[in-house]
Amino acid sequence: MLKDVRITKIILNRYMEELEYYLQSDIAVVGAGPAGLTAAYYLAKSGRKVAIFEKRLSIGGGMWGGGIMFNTIVFQEEAREIFEEFEIEYKSHGDGYYSADAVLAVTAMGAKVIRAGAKIFNLLAAEDVLSEGGSRVTGLVLNWTSVQIAGLHIDPVAIEASFVVDATGHDCQVVGFVQNKLKGKLFTETGNIMGERSMWAESGEKFLLEHTREVYPGLYVVGMSASAVYSGHRMGPIFGGMLLSGRKAAREINSSLSS
Ligand SMILES: Cc1cc2nc3c(=O)[nH]c(=O)nc-3n(C[C@H](O)[C@H](O)[C@H](O)COP(=O)(O)OP(=O)(O)OC[C@H]3O[C@@H](n4cnc5c(N)ncnc54)[C@H](O)[C@@H]3O)c2cc1C
Repeated sequence: MLKDVRITKIILNRYMEELEYYLQSDIAVVGAGPAGLTAAYYLAKSGRKVAIFEKRLSIGGGMWGGGIMFNTIVFQEEAREIFEEFEIEYKSHGDGYYSADAVLAVTAMGAKVIRAGAKIFNLLAAEDVLSEGGSRVTGLVLNWTSVQIAGLHIDPVAIEASFVVDATGHDCQVVGFVQNKLKGKLFTETGNIMGERSMWAESGEKFLLEHTREVYPGLYVVGMSASAVYSGHRMGPIFGGMLLSGRKAAREINSSLSS
């Protein structure tokens, strides 16, 4: 016999257990777009304790809509092995161009990330960083997206992580939180967020990989967030760079944690 209160209790208990477990994580990823999901996947696969915080109800970021709402995503040869790792079927169009179904890409990546051991907390938004000691990002300050939308005056909570990954896309929100408090201290030419340049896929994709890096002690940038912080060209609806960027950050964070 189904008891309504029993159902409620299961939801409350399981969620609280999981949230409490991830209050101290190896890596906290902000944003479940393609770059954040890929970073989380490779880190979790290496045995790291990874939590992803996504402010929206759905994961996938800008991947669902392909280009102009045509739900096909395009990627290049360099990223093909990552699509294979995620078991996303694709078509070859010759000359190193490939395409995949955008909805399959999001759902396949989501399932792989969770099965690799990462936990996705949706509807939770990062609104600041934790910086115990003052010289390093040591975690995140989080609140419900619904609190932000309603403009309620409600204090957030905090989680700790050895590394935080800003995978918030064009807004590079986590880096923005650091810059707001510590002007001129980022590891960029100006010390501040430099802003994205206009569209040029060839340059943008290369630039993104070169600039996927630690932007402040304890804080990495991946995907469009890295382009926006370091002033790369935007690259339009090509997604290979997002996955390559996530994988690169995962490798670097992994080796930092191992050393
Ligand atoms: C409106 C729009 C414009 C686009 N413009 C471009 C472009 O100019 N150039 C280009 O190359 N591609 C563009 N794209 C294509 C595509 O979005 C990106 O290439 C790709 O999705 C970026 O991947 P990402 O993982 O870096 O970030 P995204 O896919 O954007 O994912 C970021 C995720 O972070 C979440 N997030 C943001 N802030 C917070 C927070 N504070 N707390 C928790 N979660 C947070 C978001 O909800 C989102 O799910 C665009 C897509 C959209 C929808």
